[in-house]
Amino acid sequence: MTLNQWELDLAQWVPAHNIKRNESLKKYTMTKLGGKADLFVLPETEEQAAAVVKYAHEHQIPLLMLGNGSNMVVRDGGIRGIVLHFSLLNEVRIEGNTIIVQSGALIKEVSKMAAAQCLTGFEFACGIPGSIGGAMAMNAGAYGGEVKDIVTSCTLLTPEGEQIILTNEQLELSYRKSIIAKNGYYVLSATFELTHGDQQEIDAKIADLTHQRESKQPLEYPSAGSVFKRPPGYFAGKLIQDSDLQGKGVGGAEVSTKHAGFIINKDNASATDYIETIKMVQKVVKEKFNVDLEMEVKIVGED
Ligand code: FAD
Repeated sequence: MTLNQWELDLAQWVPAHNIKRNESLKKYTMTKLGGKADLFVLPETEEQAAAVVKYAHEHQIPLLMLGNGSNMVVRDGGIRGIVLHFSLLNEVRIEGNTIIVQSGALIKEVSKMAAAQCLTGFEFACGIPGSIGGAMAMNAGAYGGEVKDIVTSCTLLTPEGEQIILTNEQLELSYRKSIIAKNGYYVLSATFELTHGDQQEIDAKIADLTHQRESKQPLEYPSAGSVFKRPPGYFAGKLIQDSDLQGKGVGGAEVSTKHAGFIINKDNASATDYIETIKMVQKVVKEKFNVDLEMEVKIVGED
């Protein structure tokens, strides 16, 4: 089957202007680097999303789910097959203490909407730049909180395109892990349960966390956030700092001088520069401390 055929077939369900050929993924990823997607598809409804997933499954077309691209590095050769993006599925409903959010809404915006309704429990996410879908798949967390603490259920598509609902326990959420990533599910929406809080306390917490983030993270440069998971018994940033790697890198990529856990796209880096910098850090830290740094970021696509 040709790319033309996929495009024609998908246009039965998804409006043609939401199916883009050879779309550069630089603008959809926070590292601002990497190649193009053969076909980039933006469903407007959950039914359209299910139709795309079913179609890709039936025709064995590789399908990559891209959230807000804040934890993803796309290699320079780009992605073969279909890249699915849920940014148009972004409805947020607040009913009492319950928030029902579609996958493409940004978690930090939802955190702020919860705060505006005097709901507490979502403050930890006020600076996490991912989508709800990505946050669920990664069990995103910060400053002592994680989505596991507040999610009650998640509506998903299976790799075959069937809709299922899983509860908090069934989602198997643990440090940067979930059954979503394990089984290749697609998040359509998630439901969160919060509690009524004190407005001043909520606002103060958000202000404090925002200040901590802005003072410690190199938010002025494109990056994928913390590149490595926390190795048991250590902090990745500290190991990298103690390896004297800050300010070092390959090509336009560099280990941040502000936060050693971040690798920034400092000057027009290629994905190869970024990935070589990751490997360099892993090698030096292994030699110096005998610790294996496991990647938190997802590297996808072809060289
Ligand atoms: P992407 O990066 O697009 O994708 C990540 C993974 O999730 C991929 O495997 C993708 O296939 C999958 N995915 C995305 N959407 C869906 C979906 N709808 N259904 C199924 N799978 C999906 N993370 C933290 O946990 N805490 C932090 O404090 C934090 N700070 C950050 C700060 C900066 C400056 C940056 C750039 C990143 C930071 N991150 C942090 C990382 C990132 O924001 C989180 O991992 C986030 O959850 C990723 O969401 P995303 O939508 O960007 O996903």
